[in-house]
This record gives sequence, structure tokens and C-alpha cells, in this order.
Amino acid sequence: MNRNANKCIKCDVVQCKNHCQDVDYCALDVIKIGTHEDDPKICQCTDCESFEKREL
Ligand code: SF4
Repeated sequence: MNRNANKCIKCDVVQCKNHCQDVDYCALDVIKIGTHEDDPKICQCTDCESFEKREL
């Protein structure tokens, strides 16, 4: 399956239904990044809020 890889959005999260699967890119045109922290300081404080669990 080679969905429309957005070469501007590299991603390794194959558990997401928006991941291209055969290449490590997101298939969405745009994603939203957010944070679950009050005062984020490292990248682990950030989240892809466009993540959707891939159904197997
Ligand atoms: S929506 Fe976010 S987590 Fe999912 S493939 Fe795209 S960038 Fe990765």
C-alpha cells in the first residue's frame, strides 16, 4: 500500500492509521502537534494530535 506520502511529514508511528506503512511518512496533508504539558521543554512533551489508532 503506497498511500500519498507527504514528504514534509516523516513519521515512524506505524500503529497510526494515517501512516503510509510501506514508507515512513504520514499520508495526511496537514497534522496538528500539541502538548500534554503545561510548560514543554523536551520533544517527548509534544504529541501528534492527528494520531488515530490503526485497526488491524
Ligand atoms: S497522524 Fe501523526 S502519528 Fe499518525 S502518521 Fe501522521 S504524523 Fe504520524
